Amino acid sequence: MPGLGCASLEDLRELMGDCRRCDLWRTRTKLVFGVGDPHARVMFVGEAPGKNEDLQGEPFVGAAGKFLDELLAHAGLRRDQVYIANVLKSRPPNNRDPEPDEIEACTPFLREQIRLVDPDVLVTLGNFATKFVLRTQTGITRLHGTVQQAGRFRVLPIFHPAAAIYDRTKRDDLFADFEVLRALLAEIPPSGAAQPATAGRADGAPGEPPARPEQTTLF
Ligand code: URA
Repeated sequence: MPGLGCASLEDLRELMGDCRRCDLWRTRTKLVFGVGDPHARVMFVGEAPGKNEDLQGEPFVGAAGKFLDELLAHAGLRRDQVYIANVLKSRPPNNRDPEPDEIEACTPFLREQIRLVDPDVLVTLGNFATKFVLRTQTGITRLHGTVQQAGRFRVLPIFHPAAAIYDRTKRDDLFADFEVLRALLAEIPPSGAAQPATAGRADGAPGEPPARPEQTTLF
């Protein structure tokens, strides 16, 4: 898959400019590119900016973002040690689902962000980002907390933090999944040298094979 050939995230941001590759520029306030350590070991991918993100130009700054910070701390991480981006860089009006043409226009930018950050682990937040990155129809309820592979990247799907704010069960699942993340990081050499992905769900039945998506073609 040919990349955009950018040397850095700054170059990529410059290439996006005041992006008008789909119609979302008409209703957005700020483009939300992504934030964090450009060489982070962990990169989070959400769906699209919400209201607060659109106003501030930064991903996950609302209630879901606060909860994400809490979860990061649970895995021994701070926000400035990870990289956070979304599939879409502009807010869909009233947080409606992303449209196919919007996804198509934004995909090269997310792919290039992932190539440049080159994380050890990609964490997909919620159903939409998980299905998008893994190119799967399998839902997040089955996949969360299991280590998947997309091209050369290890992918850890987890529930979207927004879905867990008022749902105790999902909160507990999210904390457990961040323990999987912590274990995964401890087992991967920080250089990123390829090792077989072996970590599984903290609460998975022994010997139970992880759920696998049907295909991986994003990378
Ligand atoms: N939800 C997302 O998926 N991304 C954000 O940046 C904020 C909320």
